[in-house]
Amino acid sequence: MLTAITRKLKELTRMLGTRPYYGFVTGHGYLTEAQVTEVRRVLESPTQAAETVAEYERRFAAVVGEGRGLATAGGRMALFATLRALGVGAGHEVIVPAFTCSVVASAVLRTGATPVFTNVDPATFGTDPDAVAKAITPKTRAIIGQHSFGIPCRVGELRALADGCGAALIEDCALTVSSTRDGVAVGNTGDAAFFSTDHSKPMNTVVGGFFYTRDAGLYDAVAAQLNNAPTLPEAQQQRLFGQFLLERRLARPASYGLYQLIMLGKSVLRRLSDPGMTFLDDDYVVERTGAYAYPARLPAMLARIGLFELDRWPAEAARREALLQRYLAAAYGTPL
Ligand SMILES: *Cc1c(COP(=O)(O)O)cnc(C)c1O
Repeated sequence: MLTAITRKLKELTRMLGTRPYYGFVTGHGYLTEAQVTEVRRVLESPTQAAETVAEYERRFAAVVGEGRGLATAGGRMALFATLRALGVGAGHEVIVPAFTCSVVASAVLRTGATPVFTNVDPATFGTDPDAVAKAITPKTRAIIGQHSFGIPCRVGELRALADGCGAALIEDCALTVSSTRDGVAVGNTGDAAFFSTDHSKPMNTVVGGFFYTRDAGLYDAVAAQLNNAPTLPEAQQQRLFGQFLLERRLARPASYGLYQLIMLGKSVLRRLSDPGMTFLDDDYVVERTGAYAYPARLPAMLARIGLFELDRWPAEAARREALLQRYLAAAYGTPL
């Protein structure tokens, strides 16, 4: 505990000494007051909740491809519902990249199946088909093909491996939207894909996830899992709205140090009040506190934020592309 706090304090001094400072979270500083009021209206009187979520689902799916999708309160929950719909459970194995988010392995464990880790491809940082080929056993029911940092993995080879052993291929697009490989956009090679709109991801609805598929049968099976799932409780939605307001004000380069400081304070308080917390706290807080359901559907208020993010996505994708080109130009001609 003490070393953890010392480490955090060191982090803090570093943060305050470096300005402007920028990190993972791009707040919603671009939203007008009227748009924020619109989000608040959806939070306070969710009369059109189902319509708002359905519109978000239709528009998000259209960004990915010709398939359909369903919005969840986290990417992990979309993966979990997909695995369940595919009948994955005890006695089965799911191949997972070793360099992933811990909640991916947790989603597999929640179904009763065993995650089998494979090393990543050093050229893409995503799933390595050569490593997957060696990890397939008669128990393999699903392969997760992860696209890391906007870079598509060798997903065509994964498709062939999955077909060869009768497993499903699920694309992890949590960090990658709109990228293409061999002319195919991520999310359209697997039997299904999941995205995350957590605040650290390309599109930010504070928390959120998205299930996508072009397979009508699988869509119906996942819908059957999710249509009975509750959304997040009202108190949790109020907290998320507060986080949205905080990020809109502070999660920008000039004030990012202050934003980090506030987030650090929150995390220290949480840890002090709950010493049983582990590095998987994000995921297991649900079991320990019963704070919300797993899987849960995306609240309409967050879907409303998501609609603003979708409006902005074409320009944001172009901005990211331009930044990438600048980084590449700087990296070429160096030993990197
Ligand atoms: C963030 C992330 C996830 C999980 O998404 P949540 O919305 O946090 O559940 C899964 N996979 C990868 C690669 C991620 O970066």
